Amino acid sequence: MVPDIARIEPLVRQLLIELGEDPEREGLVKTPERVAKALAFLTHGYRTDLKEVINQALFTQDTGSMVIVKDIEVYSMCEHHMLPFFGRCHVGYIPDGKVFGVSKLARLVDMYARRLQLQERLTEQISAVIMSEIGARGVGVMIEAKHLCMMMRGVEKQNSVMVTSSVLGVFRDNLATREEFLTLVGRHA
Ligand code: ZN
Repeated sequence: MVPDIARIEPLVRQLLIELGEDPEREGLVKTPERVAKALAFLTHGYRTDLKEVINQALFTQDTGSMVIVKDIEVYSMCEHHMLPFFGRCHVGYIPDGKVFGVSKLARLVDMYARRLQLQERLTEQISAVIMSEIGARGVGVMIEAKHLCMMMRGVEKQNSVMVTSSVLGVFRDNLATREEFLTLVGRHA
């Protein structure tokens, strides 16, 4: 469902009033429209079609080596505060006959990041979809992110980075494989 910008605008306008602002002042007149459009974009992952992302992105390649894609930018919003969290996602997998185009991997990450999320769930959804769609022998996903809800409010931990990881298949079953992944993405177990 595409969000109805015209219906979100009066909600944002009301929010401005409740916060003690004057939505008629010059700088805020167009803010409800801008916020509505920004929120629609930041949640476009709900409306992304997985089949369309996957389509023609799989290439046959007979390799048993680990494929690593590091530092995929992640921008998401925490579902508890609707504030951004952002950082980097590292993906590793061992193909089982098929590999995935690198740019499509980034789109796949975006598809799940551009929603209201928990970092833990985002990490697990990415690993699960790679496992099921590529048919990999194993996959590891690690996300390192800063959460504005922690940095700007509450405990105000400016430099804390939350690290989450999810491993499936041989990454879960085989310690050496998991360690290879962690070493290649620059983290040790
Ligand atoms: Zn939060």
